[in-house]
Amino acid sequence: MFIGIQELRLHEIKFQEEIPHLDLGPDIRQSSPLRTAGRAALLREHLGRKQEIEDIRVVGEFSARLELNCARCLEPIARELDKSFDLLYRPQGADAGRDELTVTQAEADIGYYTGEGLQLEDVLREQVLLAVPLKAVCREDCRGLCPHCGRNLNVESCECASGEPDPRWAGLEQFKSKLPGPTRT
Ligand SMILES: [Zn+2]
Ligand SMILES: [Zn+2]
Repeated sequence: MFIGIQELRLHEIKFQEEIPHLDLGPDIRQSSPLRTAGRAALLREHLGRKQEIEDIRVVGEFSARLELNCARCLEPIARELDKSFDLLYRPQGADAGRDELTVTQAEADIGYYTGEGLQLEDVLREQVLLAVPLKAVCREDCRGLCPHCGRNLNVESCECASGEPDPRWAGLEQFKSKLPGPTRT
């Protein structure tokens, strides 16, 4: 859905949409349509004395169910998102005279639009990606994959750790064998 500056000059745009597929990249899959509702409005900002720029403010909320992979064991995990947003988009290049800007909506997150407006889908894609943790884990104590054989250590164990010692520990092993004390078996 396009939010156009022409239309916004006439009236606010309300939206209520279900977006079945947003392109979220290879690591995040959408397992339900993203639902969103809100409104967009034009906001005039004065740059210095003469110049006036037209900002687009988008306020609303969205919810979605996503599937991503655990950063340690790579198993799929489900995440529910339910967020609200209040965003301000300035025309690209408008910040040249930044110091003179009156920030009308100080708390709003600021982005930029080019040309005649912006796509609601782009706004939401960005909001979803911001809301998803960079390294999600299936559970706090996920043991991940064995770096040697690739087995999922949450479901099975492997002999790698007890077999060949990690070369980084070799020095320590030598040191330990020189220590006096009870013989280790
Ligand atoms: Zn995991
Ligand atoms: Zn292993």
